[in-house]
Amino acid sequence: MTADPVSAAPQAQPITEGPLVDRYGRVARDLRVSLTDRCNLRCTYCMPDDPDAWLPDETLLTDEELARLIAISITHLGITNVRFTGGEPLLRRSLEQLIGATAQLRTQTGETPGISMTTNALGLAHRAQKLADAGLQRINVSLDTMNPDHFEQITKRRRLPAVIAGLAAAKAAGLTPVKVNAVPQTAHFVTDAPELLRFCLSNGYRLRFIEHMPLGGSVSWERNAIVTRKQLLEAMTSAGARLSAPEDARGASPAELWQVEWDGLHGDVGIIASVTAPFCAACDRTRLTSDGQIRTCLFDQVETDLRTPLRAGASDEELAELWKRATWRKPRAHGIDHEGFARPSRPMSAIGG
Ligand code: SAM
Ligand code: SF4
Repeated sequence: MTADPVSAAPQAQPITEGPLVDRYGRVARDLRVSLTDRCNLRCTYCMPDDPDAWLPDETLLTDEELARLIAISITHLGITNVRFTGGEPLLRRSLEQLIGATAQLRTQTGETPGISMTTNALGLAHRAQKLADAGLQRINVSLDTMNPDHFEQITKRRRLPAVIAGLAAAKAAGLTPVKVNAVPQTAHFVTDAPELLRFCLSNGYRLRFIEHMPLGGSVSWERNAIVTRKQLLEAMTSAGARLSAPEDARGASPAELWQVEWDGLHGDVGIIASVTAPFCAACDRTRLTSDGQIRTCLFDQVETDLRTPLRAGASDEELAELWKRATWRKPRAHGIDHEGFARPSRPMSAIGG
């Protein structure tokens, strides 16, 4: 990994008690925890060509190590929301226990932390109720198309019915909201986007389109091949959906939202334009990879190793201090549009979306 060019900035680093603050005044409250880099799908925008180069087992944090770092983040560092992700988080057998341990914690203001998960939903049909009982509150399910052939082209697996069953189980288990994340595909969005919208409206799921980011999948990434907001809106309205003017209050939320009415169905749809309208200035995220590295930004070239000090016997205070120092030098923005932009050293599946 290369050094972070901005870390040489002249500001002094604060060594004080308190939340995860960076040089630009942003405070990280939202922790993304990657539970594994492995996955049972092979989405072309996410997985590298050689997906068998998994992280070595001995580098993966144990359940106890993960639980300890999550506890430090909530009790010492002001984290209020934890999202479990991966790779595929459902592949971690101890997921219910990790959620249960997180639900026992209290934030610095004495509340139960927000607990959510991003998943491909394979196997969720059998686990949704157990996960909800353990303390999971919300869920995002990744689904790009309702067309089984397109699904197979994207994921390399013919598993669409399992995802649909997983979504239904999440709703039945009371997870609220159930969101659907979709990365629109250039070849099929004209038909796939409205179909997906109609499916989501019919079932009360909240659809969010996410722009394709350069994160190391097997397909090449080109900025001018991103399906634009305008194209998506046109595809949905041409199919019959009536979208209201965007609400202004995007706030810290990365999604721009529209209210939808379609043949008596109501709901909303969002577009997360991470590339063409980045929300870096409002970013409140910090990431812990499954091998114990802190990443302050998806696109950061620098990681901070917590695993080595943790295994060498570092105290909670020492680990919290390392996390704070890492946050302090969080980049101002991902810089995808800047000359010299370099893709992250890990694929999305190993960072945690
Ligand atoms: N396996 C789980 C899933 O698919 O939801 C969790 C991990 S996945 C890396 C998290 C999210 O990242 C998914 O919603 C996926 O669509 C999104 N994602 C992966 N690669 C992406 C890329 N290159 N650009 C935009 N979103 C991406
Ligand atoms: Fe797996 Fe999620 Fe990546 Fe698809 S997006 S390959 S389901 S980690």
